[in-house]
Amino acid sequence: MDADLLVIGGGINGVGTAADAAGRGLSVILCEKGDLASGTSSASSNLIHGGLRYLEHGQFGLVRQALRERNLLSKHASHLVTAQPFLLPMSPEIRKPWLLRLGLKAYDFLAWDSQLPKSSSIVIKDLGLQSQYHHALKYYDCKVDDSRLVLHVALQAHEHGAQIFTRTEIIAAERTPKYWIVKLKNGNEIRDYVVKAIVNAAGPSAQQIANNILHVHTEHKIRLIKGTHILVPKLFDYNEALVLQNNDQRTIFVIPYMDKFSLIGTTEVLVDDPKDPVASEEEIEYLCNAVNKFILNPIKKADIVHVYAGIRPLYNDNNQDPSKNSREFVIDIDDKQAPLITLFGGKLTTYRHTSEQICNILEKNLPKCGAPWTDTAYLPGGHFPNDDQEMFKQHIKKIYTRIPQDLLQHYFNNYGTRITNLLMNVHSQANLGEHFGGFLYKREVDFLMQHEWARTAEDILWRRGKQGLFLDDQRVSRLSQYLDSCHK
Ligand SMILES: Cc1cc2nc3c(=O)[nH]c(=O)nc-3n(C[C@H](O)[C@H](O)[C@H](O)COP(=O)(O)OP(=O)(O)OC[C@H]3O[C@@H](n4cnc5c(N)ncnc54)[C@H](O)[C@@H]3O)c2cc1C
Repeated sequence: MDADLLVIGGGINGVGTAADAAGRGLSVILCEKGDLASGTSSASSNLIHGGLRYLEHGQFGLVRQALRERNLLSKHASHLVTAQPFLLPMSPEIRKPWLLRLGLKAYDFLAWDSQLPKSSSIVIKDLGLQSQYHHALKYYDCKVDDSRLVLHVALQAHEHGAQIFTRTEIIAAERTPKYWIVKLKNGNEIRDYVVKAIVNAAGPSAQQIANNILHVHTEHKIRLIKGTHILVPKLFDYNEALVLQNNDQRTIFVIPYMDKFSLIGTTEVLVDDPKDPVASEEEIEYLCNAVNKFILNPIKKADIVHVYAGIRPLYNDNNQDPSKNSREFVIDIDDKQAPLITLFGGKLTTYRHTSEQICNILEKNLPKCGAPWTDTAYLPGGHFPNDDQEMFKQHIKKIYTRIPQDLLQHYFNNYGTRITNLLMNVHSQANLGEHFGGFLYKREVDFLMQHEWARTAEDILWRRGKQGLFLDDQRVSRLSQYLDSCHK
């Protein structure tokens, strides 16, 4: 037997399951056909949130669960998951103000154990919004860099002994009553592995993999909903994100992004193909128009610096309106022979709970599987002495006096306490080696290759941070050239 468990997919739910299972004493292999987080988990709105709008659909249990997870993540990865204030300007013709106030009271109530401030009503002044928007509700959620969260959880899995195989695709499987024989393909190499159980966490491809590779017909079905985001130069000087109510009842977020940009999203379009989603001109126009109805200085398509699209792998509840499709996750269990668990749905915010539920099911089939543990576990880099992040930061500033403050802050946000591993024996900026542009130096590139499974320029620029926003084509080619030289 090569392992107790094979996890298919290196998105947030795959790495979450691998970490939880490995921590319970199972031997785990995770295969990801591309880079970690190369699917939906790097195309989100980057929010760790309860999902205020799900209250409108009566999904109180889902919201409470997500708010609980928001709490845990803000504690266990406080360098990565940070508070984000939101303003919801009143549009009485779309939703009655009393209804929104009531909704936010319910949100506050469900977040009873949160450290974040409660909601309040404010008068809008000098916020760059059109004059008909004069009142807003203010509330708090959290934000995160989605793909860095995936990387942190993958590291947690690895620390507990999981083997993480990137650029490794499952291409075939044979099932027996007691085990699976799977074929994993990495480049030109194909290898057979024998495992006791499989968790299929392939996100949008989960159904296809279940049907075509694992030859199992799942009880539940998937619904694929594409969402697009655009990034424009920072629209406002303030730190609040905006929640804008569009007249089709949908809401559009405008979120401060990396100090210099505003992230605008998202659309909801039903699609058939789980692979390589592309933002359409229509979706981009929809987002620009939705925002322009609110702001004083309209944005144009030419302002857009970056666009991305991702697919929500929701379980299909057959709701006529896809935007009202339930956001609850469903775990499809097939243990007639060697067990297979297929996940439909699941959010970035609730990955820990989802993974815990999956492992609780595995416990029944794999007696070696231990008890749940992740609700008290810090993510790598997230455990600050005495839980005092500020004191740790001051300590770091004293050690690395010759590293610019903004660069140090950038490293802190991305690595937390792991900053000391990254900067081991670094005494000055010169020790960081070649500068590839933005905040990216050779030292970090080497660290990402050695410790975070990075192989290509795209892995580094878009999924180990977002320095891709600051490098021109020439600098990207130089980085690729350097990476090629390392792989020779
Ligand atoms: C537009 C948008 C905005 C969102 N915003 C938020 C938000 O703000 N907050 C939040 O909590 N949630 C948000 N979500 C939801 C969240 O991002 C997703 O639910 C979550 O990332 C799904 O993760 P996953 O691991 O299930 O799937 P994925 O991240 O897609 O991972 C599946 C992985 O499986 C791999 N794979 C596929 N086929 C194979 C194969 N044959 N062999 C091996 N590997 C394979 C893929 O390469 C992929 O990396 C958003 C989603 C979208 C689309």
